[in-house]
Amino acid sequence: VFPGVIEIGLYDIIVQVCKSGLSQHHPLKKYKDNRIAFWTDNYVYRHGMDEIVVVFEDVTQREKTLEELERRVKERTAELETANKELESFAYSVSHDLRAPLRAIKGFAQIISERYAGALPPEAGRYFDFIVRAGENMSILIQDLLDYSRLGRGALKIEAVSLAQTVDKALDTLGSKVKEERGKVTVEGTLHFVEADVTLLNRVLVNLVENALTYHPPERPPEINISSRREDGYVYLTIKDNGIGIDRKFYKRIFEIFQRLHSAEDYPGTGIGLAIVRKCVDLMGGEVSLKSTPGEGSVFSVKLKEALN
Ligand code: ADP
Repeated sequence: VFPGVIEIGLYDIIVQVCKSGLSQHHPLKKYKDNRIAFWTDNYVYRHGMDEIVVVFEDVTQREKTLEELERRVKERTAELETANKELESFAYSVSHDLRAPLRAIKGFAQIISERYAGALPPEAGRYFDFIVRAGENMSILIQDLLDYSRLGRGALKIEAVSLAQTVDKALDTLGSKVKEERGKVTVEGTLHFVEADVTLLNRVLVNLVENALTYHPPERPPEINISSRREDGYVYLTIKDNGIGIDRKFYKRIFEIFQRLHSAEDYPGTGIGLAIVRKCVDLMGGEVSLKSTPGEGSVFSVKLKEALN
């Protein structure tokens, strides 16, 4: 039934099963030129006291198909990575080259509206103001896009970073926004050390806290709580707010570039902040997640490797 039963080691398995009564799984694989040549799956079990049953299954074709699929997935992933890199450098050059002409449009529109204010009909003056304001919005958008595509271009420096210090620095940066929004930020307990790039981590914090300060109902000043906890070699940094919250169906979408849930009139922004957060966290080998209750607030959580110092 099975030629070479001794050479392929199956005979020994049969003897062992015969003695112990314990069933065994004994797959047999043979490769040729790094490819599967044959693959059989064998199950050996004892039936009663004096019978042995060997179930022999030739799975060569199935395993060959799987091997081929894996090869194709790897190939496609490599292609996608190249396409992604090309797209990022395209975004970088476009946003970089758009800055100069935009500066000229904005600058000259401003000169006309200031220097020739008296000579222009009031309506024309208003139109020039629109041009200046639209130009300013576009500048912010281009700057954000440049920042986003620059991420990961420079070398990363992963080291032990103090969350306490990084949070302090981020809160310093956002000091005027905290005041403007009449916000209250509390840091709970002692924050841990993480394996991170200090510049990227700072950007993550500034973006998350800035959002927490922005997305609140006008009548309810923001209250933000920052804390960290350790688990299985990782640190979870959480930023909790009491803002407007986010519907579960948007959890994924808001991390994509230019995705916003509000108009600029309701809440200003460009829709790049969370895309930057995700990219920074990805580059540091971490994860970012979100839990939220619409109308009550959101909790953003960043998982990074704990630093042993
Ligand atoms: P921006 O803030 O410039 O719009 P982000 O990428 O930072 O861009 O955020 C995307 C969208 O996610 C925001 O427009 C907002 O609708 C939603 N969002 C982000 N953070 C919060 C938060 N803390 N609470 C409620 N909504 C939020």
